[in-house]
Amino acid sequence: MPPIPFLRRKLDKLCVPVSPLSRFSSAAARAFVPFYGPAIARHIANFSVLDAHFSPLSWPRPNERVWILSPHPDDESLGCGGLLARCAVANVPAKIVFLTGGDGTRTTQFVLRVNPRFSGPYDLLSIAHERQIEAKNAARELGLREETIEFLGFPDGGMETMWETGFSPRDPYISPFTAKMRVPYENARTPHAPFCRQSVLDALVASLEEFQPTLVLTTPAFDTHRDHVASFQFLKCALACAELEHKPDFWIYLIHHGIWPVPNGLHPEKRLVPPAHLLRDAAWHSLELSDDEIEAKRRALACHATQMASTCRYLNAFVRQNELFAPASEF
Ligand SMILES: [Zn+2]
Repeated sequence: MPPIPFLRRKLDKLCVPVSPLSRFSSAAARAFVPFYGPAIARHIANFSVLDAHFSPLSWPRPNERVWILSPHPDDESLGCGGLLARCAVANVPAKIVFLTGGDGTRTTQFVLRVNPRFSGPYDLLSIAHERQIEAKNAARELGLREETIEFLGFPDGGMETMWETGFSPRDPYISPFTAKMRVPYENARTPHAPFCRQSVLDALVASLEEFQPTLVLTTPAFDTHRDHVASFQFLKCALACAELEHKPDFWIYLIHHGIWPVPNGLHPEKRLVPPAHLLRDAAWHSLELSDDEIEAKRRALACHATQMASTCRYLNAFVRQNELFAPASEF
């Protein structure tokens, strides 16, 4: 059996619209399952929708106020970089709220240790501080001011457990990565807040009420990263609790779902389409980006150097002609 990375590179080179071959692709996907596993089969199936088109979005609308919940520093650029660049040019108020500090990624820690371009320190809290700087630089590349971003500092990798279990100020969640049980960042919205469900909801409600958005976005419940799933659940609950002058529209942007987007790597001339098996699960809409917006997004992603060090081809795969969004009301 050929090694999977080799096969994946081969598949990435097949970046042609294969709509006429979609029936063949589906059959091929099924045939590959016993030999190469569901992940590779899904990869093949994803190629069958490369030329799909979706309802266009004309964001931002008049008097728009855009509020984005990003589970980790980099999700905002990946999913909404083009939208944010457009908001900056149009002087539309936009806010990025980072749910976690990105302080739970041992993969990043390992990659930085072996990468001669980085000189440490490599403890997870230091990496999180570095990721905050990267997020600020990315926002600047998108044309946003530093005041438009806010860090909540909750534990990376712990959000779904906090959502499901709740915990309490007296008995908070303890991060297995940082060993912290309170927000460890002095520049966060609520420094030293205990790691529990109520702390997260309080911070989100306060931010929403302060900003009074017309459009809120986060990752969906069908994203395959547990923090991203929790991000959706927390925001859905916070929106129900917040006292807002007008009910904002709630939309999602997808970041993690198996081997997606296809093809990997930097392909700014290509369109972004959802994973094949999610085509009918959401009312996907497309925001068409200008060349300037695509370039601003590419530069913003390049600012996330700690993540680029380990997942460059994956991150660059989001730099496309368009960005995809779907209304959250359907989930
Ligand atoms: Zn993330």
